[in-house]
Amino acid sequence: MLLGEEEVLARVLESARLVATEKRSVWECGNRIAAQDAYASVPLPSFDNSTVDGYAVRAQDVVSGRRLEVVGEQSAGIALGLRVDQNQAVRIFTGAPIPSGADAVLMQEEVEQVKHTILVRESVLAGENIRRRAEDLCEGQKFLSQGDVLNGARLAMLASQGLAETNVYKRPSISIIATGSELRPPGSVLSQGEIFESNRILLSELVTTSGADPQVQPIVPDDESAHVSALGEGKRCDAIVIVGGVSVGKKDLVKPALKKVGARIDLWRVAIRPGKPFLFGKWDETLLFGLPGNPVSAFVTFLVFVRPALWKMGGRSEWALPKMRVNLNETLVNRGDRPHYMRGNCQRDLFHVAELQQSHALFSLSRCNALCRVPAQTTFPQGAEVDIVQFC
Ligand code: AMP
Ligand code: MG
Repeated sequence: MLLGEEEVLARVLESARLVATEKRSVWECGNRIAAQDAYASVPLPSFDNSTVDGYAVRAQDVVSGRRLEVVGEQSAGIALGLRVDQNQAVRIFTGAPIPSGADAVLMQEEVEQVKHTILVRESVLAGENIRRRAEDLCEGQKFLSQGDVLNGARLAMLASQGLAETNVYKRPSISIIATGSELRPPGSVLSQGEIFESNRILLSELVTTSGADPQVQPIVPDDESAHVSALGEGKRCDAIVIVGGVSVGKKDLVKPALKKVGARIDLWRVAIRPGKPFLFGKWDETLLFGLPGNPVSAFVTFLVFVRPALWKMGGRSEWALPKMRVNLNETLVNRGDRPHYMRGNCQRDLFHVAELQQSHALFSLSRCNALCRVPAQTTFPQGAEVDIVQFC
């Protein structure tokens, strides 16, 4: 009996523990995960200021045809403590503090300056062209939640509060091991029957884009003691992703090697296509993901089971793969008894399924940007609305 995907994902997530946190310069925190909530100590804006270059005035004085006396100039920077009284104006620039007494700013395009006066043409409403103190964010207001991804705008929020450092989760460290005596590293010369190894770079990219830190190991031949020593090296990491050799062949040595080192195998073989031989376990504190060696199987099982676990370990608050609703360009048929993650290309709102759906079809995968899960014994008719998972 194969295990169901939902059960497998639930058990994987259950075992995935949060990594530690660290304090880092905000400059090093792009795409990192906030390890604590943050509250404003500086309101935004922090004082009333002008949205335009123009003249700070009292709205009630601004009547078409009237002249106002310009009594000073306030730029952004040092607040000069200027004041606007009846029929007066202060020349002002974007971001400069509003002088006391003023309650509006006239855009410079709307007046005519003649020496020390301006000639007013149109009226202005009180409050016009002024950004009010704290209208965006008040003191004490929460502006960041634990688990948020620190994108540019959120990093800018930290900077706006005067914070040079912040607490983030460490990036989970992930050891990547490829097994197979037929595999040679790119750059070498192949003999008959050998192929270039390509899963490590695929998985390394996937690990990085999952917010974790890949540690790529040398290729491991189909030899139990080589597996054992690579696993021992990988144990220093938060998780090991071992690819190839998890199936039932005589040369599939991941399971025997895990048994040999005394690791716990929690589950093996999942009702999913591609990726049936997926394995998950734990060796002391290190998580173990065994992925099938066919590149598309490795890719799909990584997205479906490993990425959510890395997101959880890395402190993100959302672990589910984001889905999008699109229409099918052609009918998708799954006559099998496992859900099929079909690869395809999503352009605008249309999913175009890839012609070659076999698990070795790396080139076909490289032309795709989305997965569509078709449940067992199910047909999705052309034009139907379906959920897809996009990747890039
Ligand atoms: P396995 O899961 O070890 O039975 O491998 C399944 C298929 O994937 C075989 O055709 C392998 O040659 C191929 N394969 C396994 N690992 C890799 C890898 N790291 N890079 C490229 N192909 C691989
Ligand atoms: Mg193999």
